[in-house]
Amino acid sequence: MTDKKICAVLLAAGNGSRMKSDVKKQFIEINELPLFCYSAKVLSQIDEIDRIILVTSTSDIAYVREVIKRHNIQKIYDVVPGGDRRQDSVKNAVDTIPEYYEHVLIHDSARPFVKKEDILNVIRNGVEFNCSFLGVKVKDTIKSIDEKGFVTSTPDRDFLVSVQTPQVVKLDVIKKGLEQFHDKTFTDDAGVMEAMGVKTKITFGSYSNIKITTPDDLKYLKDLI
Ligand code: C5P
Repeated sequence: MTDKKICAVLLAAGNGSRMKSDVKKQFIEINELPLFCYSAKVLSQIDEIDRIILVTSTSDIAYVREVIKRHNIQKIYDVVPGGDRRQDSVKNAVDTIPEYYEHVLIHDSARPFVKKEDILNVIRNGVEFNCSFLGVKVKDTIKSIDEKGFVTSTPDRDFLVSVQTPQVVKLDVIKKGLEQFHDKTFTDDAGVMEAMGVKTKITFGSYSNIKITTPDDLKYLKDLI
């Protein structure tokens, strides 16, 4: 592993429109604990991580600070405002991280089931290869379609993975990438690293590390916790 500590960024600035709920999905309470707290707690238990920067909408910062205090969540160093796109939220956070951190771990708070062991594995690979992300092999056949729904290709499933977070990236490269490719839209951090010419590597994780996105996912979450 590394002697140097890792700074974590926990994203909770989405508006969760696909959840069709009055409460933003990261703030939905399960057993009286808002969703974002589940992954915040797991990250705070990782020795290699010594600070966590939480990103949320400006209007939610005071609420988030209050929740962190009430539930005594450790290692939250700061709560910073999010941006319009996921990558803008990441940028707002990484721009506050001092240079002595070489690597940053970025996690979507919408993935509350992330396991400690998987986090340790992705940190190990991220530090060794400058970028690694958790993911799993796809179980379904995946097809590309055109706008009318006609299939354009069926890639070989053996070489397809479904990408999750956390993702561990080199701090200086992600900072440069987010600036340089500001006009491009990315759905993950490894994508920014790939645009910067970094070879990125999967760390195989767990199928249980789902992203809570729709009301159905929430039912699943209630069954599991
Ligand atoms: O929209 P998506 O489900 O891909 O969002 C993944 C994560 O990124 C969520 O945890 C969400 O809160 C966060 N996000 C953010 N800022 C945005 C958009 C999404 O922090 N502008």
